[in-house]
Amino acid sequence: MPESRKNVTILGSTGSIGRNTLEVIGRHNDLYGVFALTADTNIQQLLEQCHQFEPRFAVLQNTDAALQLAELMAEQGAKTTVLGGLEGLLEVASHSECDYVMAAIVGAAGLKPTLAAVESGKRVLLANKEALVMSGALFMDAVKKSGAEVLPIDSEHNAIFQCLPDGFKTKDIRRILLTGSGGPLLREPLDQLKYVLPDRACAHPNWKMGRKISVDSATMMNKGLELIEANWLFDVKMDRIEVIIHPQSIVHSMVEYQDGSILAQLGSPDMRTPIAHGLAWPNRIDSGVASLDFSALGQLLFESVDMERYPCLRLAMEVLAAGGSLPTVLNAANEVAVQAYLDELICFTDIPVIIESVLERSDTPAAHSIEEILEIDRITRRSAQGMIETAHRSQ
Ligand code: NAD
Ligand code: MG
Repeated sequence: MPESRKNVTILGSTGSIGRNTLEVIGRHNDLYGVFALTADTNIQQLLEQCHQFEPRFAVLQNTDAALQLAELMAEQGAKTTVLGGLEGLLEVASHSECDYVMAAIVGAAGLKPTLAAVESGKRVLLANKEALVMSGALFMDAVKKSGAEVLPIDSEHNAIFQCLPDGFKTKDIRRILLTGSGGPLLREPLDQLKYVLPDRACAHPNWKMGRKISVDSATMMNKGLELIEANWLFDVKMDRIEVIIHPQSIVHSMVEYQDGSILAQLGSPDMRTPIAHGLAWPNRIDSGVASLDFSALGQLLFESVDMERYPCLRLAMEVLAAGGSLPTVLNAANEVAVQAYLDELICFTDIPVIIESVLERSDTPAAHSIEEILEIDRITRRSAQGMIETAHRSQ
């Protein structure tokens, strides 16, 4: 019997992952229907997506923007119901008629909606790594309790998942090799890093992504967040995860077994592949991604990480080793520092300096509830913001 059509909610449908998800879904209207689309403030783009995919719900986090969208929808006689604010996001993430939730809001803003999807036992396609990094054990406990099916969309974790025959079980493995391109500044002279402007830092050589994760790739904080993400998803300790630079982003990660066998997942750097994998698992569907041309590729390149170039990666490693609530602090300080850099308030090399100073002032005990996590997030943001303002005034 053919499987029933799945209703999908896309949290963050106007972003890079959200748009790619809609593209994959658009190829398989027989298998997937769009249940809800959500965004922060972008009325026009959400309106266009609603015209094309006719979801049951559209949600804008910004309530004023939601009111405007509702008026436009009513004028056009559209059937989509518009909701606003966090309440709206929580409703569509946990709605009983929704089967799959693509968690693709960027940053800590995605925590509550993603958790709502987890707690209601959905298949959760996890792109929003910050949600898992900041809530770690509590997130994984919620997964266990509800029986939610969390499938990694981050290309590295999706690759690791594909290289583990038992899904998340890491029995008999020697190590995980987490690949990273090194970003657009891999060859930038170290003394020039401080002058790199946001547009350059965001010009990733292989991936087209939102600006926050693009800066994270340039600092390799992205790999640091991914180390923490892998630690939770696959239950492997840090000493069995190795980060290796692979500038071409063709090998998305590898798993080495005790007998010396290494399984790798390869493919063009195109997020439609992990998205299609997560949607269809355990089956396979067409993602629209073209075949790799190996003879054009010629060779695959690897090198070790120069830790002097990427202090953010070192900070993430230290935080993962120390544990407690430091990952929450790391994530919040990074979000604030990256935004300040994108707003041209600080320079590229200030990002790790701010994060490190915030970490030095922070307490480490583990949080016992999501409210505690959100409180740590708030306190850290204030502290990082204060540091940026002080630095700015003294310039
Ligand atoms: P993006 O900036 O392109 O899109 C972010 C989306 O989140 C938008 O739809 C935006 O409207 C929504 N959003 C932003 N702030 C919000 C808020 N406060 N409340 C509600 N919605 C809000 O980001 P992206 O590149 O698509 O990344 C999304 C997530 O996926 C991130 O966590 C990122 O780390 C992860 N990810 C992205 C890629 C990629 O290739 N882009 C790869 C791996 C993982
Ligand atoms: Mg990744």
